[in-house]
Amino acid sequence: MLASLRSIVHEVNSARSLAEVLDIIVQQVREAMQAGVCSVYLFDDSDQRYVLMATQGLRPESVGKVRLAPREGLVGLVAAREEPLNLENADQHPSFAFFEETGERRFHSFLGAPIIHHRKVLGVLVLQQETQRRFHAEEEAFVVTVCAQLSGAIAHAEATGALRELAQRGRGRSRETAFSGIPSAPGIGIGRVVLATQEGNLGSVPERYSDDSSAELLRLQRALDAAKKDMRKLGRGLEAKLSSEELGLFEVYIRLLDDRALIGEVEQAITAGQTAQSGWASVMQRHVRTFRKMDDPYLRDRAADINDLGRRVLGYLQRDRRETVPLPRRIVLVGEELSAATLADIPVARLAGMVSVRGSSNSHMAIIGRALGIPTVMGAVDLPWPELDGHELIVDGFRGDVITQPSRAVRRTYVGRQREEKLLAQDLAKLSGHPCVTLDGQRLALWVNTGLRQESRLSQKVGAEAVGLYRTEIPFFARNSFPTEDEQVATYRQQLRDFAPRPVTMRTLDIGGDKALPYFPIEEANPFLGWRGIRISLDHPDIFLTQIRAMLRASVGLDNLRILLPMISNVPELEQALALIDRAYNELTAEEGYRLVPPKIGAMIEVPAAVYQVRDIGRRVDFLSVGTNDLTQYLLAVDRNNPRVASLYHTMHPAVLRALQTIREKASSVGCELSVCGELAGDPLGAVLLLGLGYTNLSMSASSLLRVKSMLSQVSQEEARALVKRAMRLSDAEQVRELFIRRLDRPQLTKLYRPLLNL
Ligand code: PEP
Ligand code: MG
Repeated sequence: MLASLRSIVHEVNSARSLAEVLDIIVQQVREAMQAGVCSVYLFDDSDQRYVLMATQGLRPESVGKVRLAPREGLVGLVAAREEPLNLENADQHPSFAFFEETGERRFHSFLGAPIIHHRKVLGVLVLQQETQRRFHAEEEAFVVTVCAQLSGAIAHAEATGALRELAQRGRGRSRETAFSGIPSAPGIGIGRVVLATQEGNLGSVPERYSDDSSAELLRLQRALDAAKKDMRKLGRGLEAKLSSEELGLFEVYIRLLDDRALIGEVEQAITAGQTAQSGWASVMQRHVRTFRKMDDPYLRDRAADINDLGRRVLGYLQRDRRETVPLPRRIVLVGEELSAATLADIPVARLAGMVSVRGSSNSHMAIIGRALGIPTVMGAVDLPWPELDGHELIVDGFRGDVITQPSRAVRRTYVGRQREEKLLAQDLAKLSGHPCVTLDGQRLALWVNTGLRQESRLSQKVGAEAVGLYRTEIPFFARNSFPTEDEQVATYRQQLRDFAPRPVTMRTLDIGGDKALPYFPIEEANPFLGWRGIRISLDHPDIFLTQIRAMLRASVGLDNLRILLPMISNVPELEQALALIDRAYNELTAEEGYRLVPPKIGAMIEVPAAVYQVRDIGRRVDFLSVGTNDLTQYLLAVDRNNPRVASLYHTMHPAVLRALQTIREKASSVGCELSVCGELAGDPLGAVLLLGLGYTNLSMSASSLLRVKSMLSQVSQEEARALVKRAMRLSDAEQVRELFIRRLDRPQLTKLYRPLLNL
C-alpha cells in the first residue's frame, strides 16, 4: 500500500489539471483497494451541492449529474460529520440514497472519507464493494492519507475557479449560467469578456491565475526594469528643483524595486500560480496595510510611498498585457465598478456590451451605455467577474440578464432577438430627417445629450436638432491630469463645430457623486450630498474660470454656445457663478480682444430646493434644464447608484410628477425657457408624460431619440394631458406606470416600449 501511495502522489504531482488528478485518484485507489467502485464528490459552491466529479465503477455518464445537497445521502453525512464512515450494509442505512443514473447496483459495503483543507470540507472520496464486509483499519488509514494528499490540489483548483468550471462542465449541458442585474441600456450584446481594471489601481486587480508562471515572472521583471528607468529619469529631471533629501526619495524607490525580500514575495506568489498583476497587487496591498497600521507617524506616511510605487509598477504590467494580449473582435466589458475612465483603452466600435457588478441604471456608466447604444447591465452583484476573462457572454440589456458560456440553443434565441431589434432600428431610421410633431400638431424639440466623441456621430445620424446637455466631465475622465485651457478649447471647439449652427449646451464640470476624476480623488461619507458640481467649481475658481474661458474661446465665430450650471441649490451660488462667467467674458473681450457673442446661460433644476425657487433662479438665467436623474434621487432619498435600493428609484413617482408640474408652471410664470435633460426624457413613456405636463423641449441619449420621436408622433398632446390628469390622482408610482402602459397599449406604440419594460 505504501508503494501505491508513493505512485499516486508522484502521478498527482505531475498532473496538469484537476480532471487529470481526479482520474488518477479514482483509478489507482480502486486498484490498490481492489474495490468495485471508487468515486470523488466535490462541493460546487455555485449550486451548493456535492457533485460526482470522477468515478471508476459507476457509469461515466453520471459524472456531473449526480448532485447531493449538503446533508443528502451517505456522502452528505460523511461531509457533515467530517470523519470517515465505514459501513458493512450501506443500503440499510437511513441516509442511503440510490441514484438510478449511476447504473449502481446495490453495493453493500461503503467507505467514505472527507477531503478537508484548512478546516473546510471540499468533498468526499468513496469506495464501494459488492460483498458485505467492513473495510480494514489499514484500508481506512490509506484512504484518509490519500484524501489529505488530494486536498491541496483541490483547494488550489477551487481558488482558481477550475473546480467550478469542472463541476459545471459535468452537468452534461453547457456551463451556461444566468445572473441577473439591473437593465441599464437596452439591446442584446454577445461577445467575449474583457475585464476592466482601473489603470494603476491596486485594489481593482482581481485575484487571477495563470498556467505559465515563467511568462508571468518575465512580465514582472520587465515592469520592474521599466519603473526603475522611469524613476531614474524623473530624478535626473528634477535635480535642479529638489533638495537632496527630496531626491533621496527616488533612490529609496529604486532600492525598494531591487529589494530581494519584497520582490521575492511577489515571485513566490507568481510561482504559486498567480499572474504578475495579481501577485504584485496582493503583496503591495498587504504592505500598504501593514504600514498604515503603524504607530510611528513617519512610518505610517510611508504607506503612501509604497502605494505609489505599487501603482507605478502595476501601470507597466497593465500596459504590457494590453500590448501582448489581443482584444477580442466583439468585446463585453466587465468590471466590479465600470467608469468612463475604463473605456479609455477599449475600441468603442468593438464594444458589444457592458456589465458592472456595482452601480444602478442611473449611474453615469449606464447613461454612457444608453448614449452609445451599448447593451448594459449594472448591479450584477453575484457575477463571478474575476473568473470570466475571455469567456463568451450574452448581455440582455432589456431584462438585465447576463448569461455566461451560453448553450447553442440559447445563443440562437438571442441572435434572433438581435435581428428583431435591428429591423425596428431600420424602421425608425426613416424618421431621422423629420420634425417631431404630435397628432394634434404640437411641435417638440428633441435634443441630444453628449460627452463622448462617438455620440456626436450618432447624434448626426439620428438628426438631433441641438445639444441639450454636453457633459464636459466625460472628456476630463480619460486623462491623467486636468486639461489645460488650450486643450479644452480644442475639445469644445470640435463639439461646437460638429453641431454648428445648432446650439450646444455645455454644462460646466459636474464631478463628485459617482463621478470622481482619477487625478482629483474625493473621499466622502455621503458623496451625493457633498462636494459636487457647482460647489467644487466655486471653491476652485481657477478650474472654473479656465473652463469658462475655454468654452468662450472655442465659440469664436461659431456663436452656438450655451452654458449650463449643475447642482444649483441656492441663489447666491448661482450669482457667484454668473459673476465669474461675466469676469471671464470681460477679460476675453475687453482685455484680450476676442470677438464673442454672449452665450445664453442656464441652470439645472435637479435639487429639491431649486424646485421651490424656480422663479428666483429663472429670473436670473436664460433657460432652465431639469435633471430628473438627480431630482428623483434627492426627492425620493434613493441613491441612484445603489443596486440595493434600485427598486425604489421611480422616475414616475407621484412626488416627481408634482415637482415637474411645479417647475413647468413657475418657469412659464417668469417666462424662462425650459427643457428636460434627465433620462426620463429618453423613455418613450416618460416623454409622453412630459408632453402631458407641457414640456416641449426634451434632451436625451442619441440612441433613444428615434424611439421617442416615433412615440410622440403617434399620440396627441390632448391625450397626453388627459393621461397626466388621471396620473395626478394616483398615489403610487407603479400605478402611474401601469396607467401609461395600459392606455398606450396599441400595436405600433407597444412595439416601442415593450422590450424596454420587459413586457
Ligand atoms: C440629471 O441629474 O438628471 C442630469 C441630467 O445630470 P447627470 O445625470 O449628469 O447627473
Ligand atoms: Mg445631475
